Amino acid sequence: MALVVQKYGGTSVGTVERIQAVAQRVKRTVDAGNSVVVVVSAMGKTTDGLVKLANEISTNPSRREMDMLLSTGEQVSIALLSMALQQLEQPAISLTGAQVGIVTEAEHSRARILRIETDRLKRHLQEGKVVVVAGFQGISSTNDLEITTLGRGGSDTSAVALAAALQADYCEIYTDVPGILTTDPRIVPDARLMAEITSDEMLELASLGAKVLHPRAVEIARNFGVPLVVRSSWSDEPGTWVMSAAPKPRSLEGLELSRAVDAVEFDTDQAKVSLLRVPDQPGVAARLFGEIASQKLNVDLIIQSIHEGNTNDIAFTVVKDSLKQAEAVASAIIPALCGGVPTSDAEVMVEQKIAKVSISGAGMIGRPGVAAQMFSTLAAAGINIQMISTSEVKVSCVVDAADCDRAIAALCAAFELTSSPLSQVAGVRSQEPGEIDQGIGDRGSGVESLRPPSPIPYPRSPISNHSLPPVRGVALDLKQARLAIRHIPDKPGMAAKVFQLLASQNISVDMIIQSQRCRVVNSVTTRDIAFTVAQMDAEAARQALQQAAPELGWGEVVVDPAIAKVSIVGAGMVNQPGVAARMFLALAQERINIQMIATSEIKVSCVVAEADGARALQTIHAAFELSGSEKIQVPA
Ligand code: ASP
Ligand code: MG
Repeated sequence: MALVVQKYGGTSVGTVERIQAVAQRVKRTVDAGNSVVVVVSAMGKTTDGLVKLANEISTNPSRREMDMLLSTGEQVSIALLSMALQQLEQPAISLTGAQVGIVTEAEHSRARILRIETDRLKRHLQEGKVVVVAGFQGISSTNDLEITTLGRGGSDTSAVALAAALQADYCEIYTDVPGILTTDPRIVPDARLMAEITSDEMLELASLGAKVLHPRAVEIARNFGVPLVVRSSWSDEPGTWVMSAAPKPRSLEGLELSRAVDAVEFDTDQAKVSLLRVPDQPGVAARLFGEIASQKLNVDLIIQSIHEGNTNDIAFTVVKDSLKQAEAVASAIIPALCGGVPTSDAEVMVEQKIAKVSISGAGMIGRPGVAAQMFSTLAAAGINIQMISTSEVKVSCVVDAADCDRAIAALCAAFELTSSPLSQVAGVRSQEPGEIDQGIGDRGSGVESLRPPSPIPYPRSPISNHSLPPVRGVALDLKQARLAIRHIPDKPGMAAKVFQLLASQNISVDMIIQSQRCRVVNSVTTRDIAFTVAQMDAEAARQALQQAAPELGWGEVVVDPAIAKVSIVGAGMVNQPGVAARMFLALAQERINIQMIATSEIKVSCVVAEADGARALQTIHAAFELSGSEKIQVPA
């Protein structure tokens, strides 16, 4: 007998008939011998309707009263579902977040869950009842017992948090799509349904998957090792399993981390190769990394910043042992890369004594200022940043190897993570004392330890290390604009200034890249920094940066709103050479120019022209053979 948490979204409980259908499914689950806790959203578009009502009365309603209002939606659906179950002679009881004891911060409209009382839930389960819990809401830990909500889409978070607190066997998220797809089916009609995905991959695919599954829910599943499955309410298809490695035992106090960063990672076994002034045209990255891959060299970080004139700089890191070989390949290929283009001043530079230092955490999604805090922390420690590369849940900086220990100590202090003496080549500092000193290679990709959802009511293939595909999904983001600041003085603290300025305007930055090329302007060494922000923030960002230019000594601020970001994500790419090369080749074959490249361990992102975005997505999806044979219907 298993303990199962099921969550049904708004459309799944949108009408009386649908509530009755949900009751049938819940009863079937109970009849199969399981204990069931059900979490429901408000019916259909109820929450939107309530927001509209509030806006008719006030342009700026108090957040407390909004929580009071919005939390009523779920109270309707829990009562109706409980009645529907009782009608089927299935004992059931509905409970609000407060009645369960879903204790949150006293932060209206975006509260995080601190802990969940399980006594009452367990008592009712013992009595043979189905417990129907209102999603999205909680109660503050203050004396006033304020009703709070978790933020829009928060019922997923309620469900996974309940599963973690109850140590449920698994959590099912029922929705109006059949699961998680390899890409956006509106652009790639043969997108395939994934049978499984790791939680790390899911977080990196936030822009693809966030509509299906709230990132905070994925974060809890990952931190507590909750087996999670996304399934359709309209069928018995198995859906998509979101797998997490068996976690280190972790306290249920402070269940949802309020911190944005939950680990500081480092790697001192890397060396950097930079190619300066190579032509800015389709096929260059493909040839370079194709050649590197054919030598079986595994590349870690890759960055390419925006072009200057008609040339680009591309930099990458490899393990130190491979440096000689990588340098040889890069030097040998330069004439070919420059063939026919009069930019003979291309050159290769290598740097042995570097360290990669990264911060990671799902909490940085949508939270401005996290990267800025990293940069300012490094600046305060007097550490210069040589390379920056970011992804959805990670910011990586390459610094001088001699600065590594100081960088980690400073970052652990700044982000309140446990630190311990450093002794090895690669590792992780995280907030749980038991979690420190894990090798980097064992993280995320450590599939042997992925906890199989058990017992499982559906047949599914066993997960083995070898079955991890290099690319799980491909995402396209058309809502970003690219900004570049020219000629930023190359000294500690400048990146910090740029991103603090943006954070103070509440502008979230997505992809950040610092160029390799140094330029001497008025006898000051300078570099460029390019990054992307949401299109709607681009003008505000440009103005703020332009205004600061005279004081901070940087040059022109260039904006290009017509860009697209296309990304591949897959935990299997960690140990497999040639994955990035394949992506670049697919783009080259379509004659699509790559404007920027940034990577993390399990993600490669390229910025291309907006007009090329859809074609880029299609060709990359096809190149990794992700197409399915069956057309998947998704609601508009
Ligand atoms: N009803 C809430 C909303 O619409 C919570 C949820 O459905 O997850 O945002
Ligand atoms: Mg939802």
